[in-house]
Amino acid sequence: MYFPEQIYAREPSIQRKRAEQGRILVIEDSRSLSSIMRHKLETDFSCQVTQCANADVFRQVMQSGQTFDVAVVDLNLPGASDGEILDAVIAEHIPAVVFTADFNRDLRERLLQKGVADYHVKNHENAIDLVLSSVVRLLGNRDVGVLVVDDVPSARTMLADLLRVQKFQVYEASTGFQAMEILTRQPHIELVITDYHMPDMDGYELTRRIRREHDSDRLRIIGISSSADRLLSASFLKAGANDFVYRPYVIEELQCRIQHNIETLAQLQQLRVAAFSDYLTALPNRRYFFDAGPAQVAGRLERGEPCCIAMLDIDHFKKLNDTYGHEIGDRVLQAVGSKLARQLAGSGHLLARLGGEEFSVLMLGLDVQQGSALCETLRSEIESLRVALDDQDLNVTISIGLAEIAGRESFSNYLAAADQLLYMAKSYGRNRVYSETMLSDPD
Ligand code: GH3
Ligand code: MG
Ligand code: MG
Repeated sequence: MYFPEQIYAREPSIQRKRAEQGRILVIEDSRSLSSIMRHKLETDFSCQVTQCANADVFRQVMQSGQTFDVAVVDLNLPGASDGEILDAVIAEHIPAVVFTADFNRDLRERLLQKGVADYHVKNHENAIDLVLSSVVRLLGNRDVGVLVVDDVPSARTMLADLLRVQKFQVYEASTGFQAMEILTRQPHIELVITDYHMPDMDGYELTRRIRREHDSDRLRIIGISSSADRLLSASFLKAGANDFVYRPYVIEELQCRIQHNIETLAQLQQLRVAAFSDYLTALPNRRYFFDAGPAQVAGRLERGEPCCIAMLDIDHFKKLNDTYGHEIGDRVLQAVGSKLARQLAGSGHLLARLGGEEFSVLMLGLDVQQGSALCETLRSEIESLRVALDDQDLNVTISIGLAEIAGRESFSNYLAAADQLLYMAKSYGRNRVYSETMLSDPD
């Protein structure tokens, strides 16, 4: 039996991917701290980092016209020991993550009033990692839409401003109906924060309506209210909300709850990606093929459009494994997978690795003649593919069985038909395409 080792190790996290290419300004006079942050941001997240060790360098960088997505700001710098640089960063509308050695409640108040995105205290060994995760989180938030629903303009604006400091794309609605409408128009909204008291429908009703159309694994809801009624939170959660916060809120707590919800969505999405993709080739896997295929076929049949299904199998693959070893076998599978993917890119057909050395293509909108022509192209492209080893090039061939999808049957029946035809292609000598139209005339 053959098992790939670390099933989940290869997929970078979605938050991580979203953070890539960020432009970061690190304002810090400690050379070692600044260099560690730069190194991690550049190597782990492909960010572009500009370092400033004092107020003069900071001024020069600002005059150079460069723009930044996030700044890490030390409050105490040579030439600016009283947080002046933080004011300048905020005036430039750069979200600031403060990294400070001194900290007290007074300072916290001042930092929040100024509108910093986050702060961390230099008092323990993994403080740098916390700063970096704040930076990565802010960069990731750039792609995330958040909808604030509140009929009181001042309360709504206050929350919206708070979210904008966190780099979210913020939408505002003053009624439940408006909220529903914005949700339909903006599919990238991942979080709704809704007040309870509203004129057209209350927060529970809005939550219930949203939940009829949007599941909790793709859209999160946080209820919010200034009412003293302790039952409010329970009712919100029962209506389908994921969290609840009483006003007046502690800003850091609200931020953490928002972030946990966004991270949960990212983790769920990552699990979906992992569940539906093949680890070795990164192609859609059998689960995805059987999940997405039937609906695609049904749609075509309803519109009276043709489609067919091809089973592809590498010839004498066992021998290749036995001769060169599994590792080389894996490389060949990857090369065949990416060649097929390149050939079919943009075609709208559905390619999957079904398992072992078997692939399938659901050819949408093609009749069996057109399907045969496409299969022939795939066959000959694989025949001419060379997989480079240290001292020689390897090549393989594939056999293909192609079945037309005519009537309504189960998806596995369509595949079984293609598999039968694949068997014929193998028995007539391999490295060939075999379809129903050839049953009487194999050559
Ligand atoms: P035929 O031309 O009739 O298709 O012969 P074949 O040898 O290709 O077919 P067979 O089904 O006998 O052998 C398939 C081999 O594929 C057996 C198995 O060890 C190998 N295999 C299956 N999955 C993997 C994989 O993920 N990696 C590698 N390297 N080999 C795999
Ligand atoms: Mg084979
Ligand atoms: Mg096989």
